[in-house]
Amino acid sequence: MDSTYKSIIETAYKQTNLLENKGKVATYIPELANVDDSMFGVHITTLDGTGFGMGNNLQKFSIQSIAKVLSLTLAYKILGEKIWTRIDVEPSGTKFDSLLLLETYHGIPRNPFINYGAIVICDILLSLLDDAREEFREFVRDLSDIPDLNYSDKIADSEKAHGYRNTALCNFIKSFGNIENEPAAVLDFYFDMCSLEMNCQQLSKTFTFLANGGHKLLDNKKIISKSKSKRINALMLTCGFYDESGEFAFKVGLPGKSGVGGGIVALYPGNYAIAVWSPRLNPNGNSFKGMKLLENVTTHSELSIF
Ligand code: GLN
Repeated sequence: MDSTYKSIIETAYKQTNLLENKGKVATYIPELANVDDSMFGVHITTLDGTGFGMGNNLQKFSIQSIAKVLSLTLAYKILGEKIWTRIDVEPSGTKFDSLLLLETYHGIPRNPFINYGAIVICDILLSLLDDAREEFREFVRDLSDIPDLNYSDKIADSEKAHGYRNTALCNFIKSFGNIENEPAAVLDFYFDMCSLEMNCQQLSKTFTFLANGGHKLLDNKKIISKSKSKRINALMLTCGFYDESGEFAFKVGLPGKSGVGGGIVALYPGNYAIAVWSPRLNPNGNSFKGMKLLENVTTHSELSIF
């Protein structure tokens, strides 16, 4: 790893650590509230395959909505451009669990990264695959090179027991005809998908395929085409942070995706993928320290896509 990356990460980590953490841990999934909120890790993987991490970069956490990029990747890989008849590619300007725009757009989600967009993607995978739960896990195991990667039953059950908004969203879309399967089965798969656990090192490695033209870094295996990879990156840039996507593009300048577990992954095509984790979230549901750290990194390195 180029030593300038290391010193940039070290400086950004230290500077961010000095800030008062104004964020709050998500409590609407009770199991997520049990996490130690002082955790703070970062890991960068560059396209030469080397990496550098600091803090709690090797501690696993619930990746939550970050998994929505991986489920989109699998559905898009199989279904191709037809996928966009079920789902749009526009920023929502709303919170991740908002119901607001469903009525306006007749059950067509604004994009695949807000909750109901990812719920439609889960429905698509259930229709396309014999065993979506198993096959999606295998897909991510292969992509991440984590042979024992698994869903967390604890987190998934905890979310399921309190997932009133997601249940409402799924039923509402079904009423417009944009859910083919039974809502209970779609939601079960959605909660499992969100419960995947990884650490920052694993997450940054996994996402290098989107910095590498859709090819897995380790063996150059094609995951998706260059054009699909470009489009997924475009969606991450415009929709990856819900109602804070503009702010993330403005301050950080990278395609990225956040999760309510406090993780964020971002990448610079042709250069690197970086993952941060700090569980306390800002009012938009994005990691407070994670956003600040990434802003520091691209400011010091001048390695943003702009
Ligand atoms: N599982 C979470 C939910 O549906 C994912 C949300 C997120 O990470 N922003 O609410």
